[in-house]
Amino acid sequence: MSPPAAPAPAPAPAAAFDPETWRAQFPILRTEMHGRPLVYLDSAASTQKPRRVIDRLKSFYERDYANIHRGVYELSQRASALHDEARRKVQRFLGARDWREIVFVRNATEGINLVAWSFLRPKLEPGDEILVTEMEHHANIVPWQIVAGERGARVVAAPITDAGEIDLDALAERITGRTRMLAVAWVSNVLGTVNPVEEIVALARREGVPVLIDAAQAVQHRPVDVAALGCDFLVFSGHKTYGPSGVGVLYGRGELLDAMPPWQGGGDMIEKVSFAGTSFNEIPFRFEAGTPDIAGIVALGEALDFLEELDLARVERHEAALLAGAERALARIPGLRILGAPKERRSALAFTLEGAHPQDIGMLLDLEGIAIRTGHHCAMPLHARFGLSASARMSVGVYTNEADIDALTAGLRRIAAMFQ
Ligand code: PLP
Repeated sequence: MSPPAAPAPAPAPAAAFDPETWRAQFPILRTEMHGRPLVYLDSAASTQKPRRVIDRLKSFYERDYANIHRGVYELSQRASALHDEARRKVQRFLGARDWREIVFVRNATEGINLVAWSFLRPKLEPGDEILVTEMEHHANIVPWQIVAGERGARVVAAPITDAGEIDLDALAERITGRTRMLAVAWVSNVLGTVNPVEEIVALARREGVPVLIDAAQAVQHRPVDVAALGCDFLVFSGHKTYGPSGVGVLYGRGELLDAMPPWQGGGDMIEKVSFAGTSFNEIPFRFEAGTPDIAGIVALGEALDFLEELDLARVERHEAALLAGAERALARIPGLRILGAPKERRSALAFTLEGAHPQDIGMLLDLEGIAIRTGHHCAMPLHARFGLSASARMSVGVYTNEADIDALTAGLRRIAAMFQ
């Protein structure tokens, strides 16, 4: 039932820096769309998968698959050990003190819902407040609204500046005696703003307010250390982190998780069941009812090994330089407006083009094999803040190269000429 005592083996040391070697590991990037080489610039929606993650999924099903924590037979023991090892890998990746602080969920969204239902809802009283910011993804707004609505509490949004940054003074002012939770994105999925989470966590701790960091756009782009950060909760999605879809992670501080009731009932989350009543398992199993995505979790471990081998500090430098180059190139296109101008940008960059609907931009670029995201990117309040209902968004991953940015820039220049 518990992970092996030994820590997960450390990944191989970082290989020599060569982004084209990283890129070569992604089979889908050798495919064509509409007869043109695929230019994939939608990694913020989901990253593509390296060969080793695809192979791990396949080999797990071919050699290692059985249900976990249930069988005494060899195969089930092996699958359980691999699943438990993946939890250790996540622990190491996040810098968590204890493997019990790592809960497997379906995605970042489910992690936030778990905290909203299990941690917050029992404490909420009429008039209480949950503080978020105007730049949040719907996943970091709606779960809080649902539990707030039930309890007569409300969600309050701290404003962001025209540059697309959190106004820290305004955030601090909105913390009141009624604030029961602060939930903030580390990196905006639209603007790419890197929020000063260290300062935000310190502020929340000073005020005695629990804090959740939505790291869905952060952990694949920069190193993370939850123990040093001191946040109470942090979530991310496997599918944005070069792993499979259907797996996500909630990190929670041990003492908080320990005190939280289960939020879903079923197998594996119990200690003893009778019709007189049920007692519940320890953390993290208490929050993992039913059979999980076993193969997906093992393959997520492989994806995190991949990222650690690339070395996230190096990934961050590489991607930041690419994004800065994209920003310079796009800014020179007539009629193109980039949303926000944050001091630090990672992952994504959103824009509009005078005269062209974002949907049209997306469809015309697709004909050239270029995949970007268009619409509200699950951030309607953020778009409303900028007076928009939609935008176009390009985003980068470890495989993005300058040729991708050049193709996008040339495509956008052609579209700008068509519409103006
Ligand atoms: N938070 C942020 C900042 C995101 O960008 C996303 C997805 O785009 C989510 C949360 C939700 O992720 P998922 O749909 O994987 O749960």
